Amino acid sequence: MTLCQLNDGMKDDLRDKLEEISLTVEAVLTMLEQKEGCLLCEIASIKDMAFELDGLASFYHFQSSLLPSLEGMEEVAKALASLSRKGHGALLAVENNDNLEPYIAICGATGVAIEAKVSAPLLETIFYPGNPLHDGAVIIREGRIISAGCVFPLSDKKYTSEGQKIGTRHRAAIGLSEQTDALVLLVSEETGKVSFVQGGVIHPIEVSLCPNRDSPSAFRFQYHQENPAL
Ligand code: ATP
Ligand code: MG
Repeated sequence: MTLCQLNDGMKDDLRDKLEEISLTVEAVLTMLEQKEGCLLCEIASIKDMAFELDGLASFYHFQSSLLPSLEGMEEVAKALASLSRKGHGALLAVENNDNLEPYIAICGATGVAIEAKVSAPLLETIFYPGNPLHDGAVIIREGRIISAGCVFPLSDKKYTSEGQKIGTRHRAAIGLSEQTDALVLLVSEETGKVSFVQGGVIHPIEVSLCPNRDSPSAFRFQYHQENPAL
């Protein structure tokens, strides 16, 4: 994340969280000198605060560095909001510098060429349960859906850091993001949660209707603090 892409409000939020962590670290150092107090409680709260900081920083990275350059993101956000509400699973990869062509046909499975402008109804139709194309992933290039039903490489990661088992949709999302610089977005069929995945790490986000006088049906992405993403 280049810091110049963060606006002042984002920097203030991150500064607040860092100061909160710094104060708690100071308190723990004092506690060690005084030999009293709940050391483990304070250390657990530093861990929680660091988790929040990580989540917020990655969401700001998504919002300031990734989203603005992505064509058709409003339609993608709209589709993700609807898929999430209905609990329909989905996996999408937005191509960046690395060519995703090799992932259209992999492991003997072949994605289906689509070549259509990204639209929310089309994405919702593709991921409608039972639809022949709902299994697998969609690849988006320059605002166009180029393929659906693609099979992504599974990551070797089988458990989250909290020891929770990771299913194959999540492993495929992590796997592609480990091998390429694509932005991967997914909706969990089990929980309805939306996440973005980059560099092998899953970050939970919320997609919500944004009330706006100029654009009453606009959708936007929001940071979702809850862990884990699965
Ligand atoms: P969910 O939270 O949606 O249940 P999960 O991570 O638990 O996801 P599974 O329940 O195993 O994963 O989801 C299976 C679905 O994930 C498959 O039906 C298919 O649509 C998709 N999927 C599984 N493996 C791959 C893959 N390698 N590439 C693309 N999509 C995949
Ligand atoms: Mg599952």
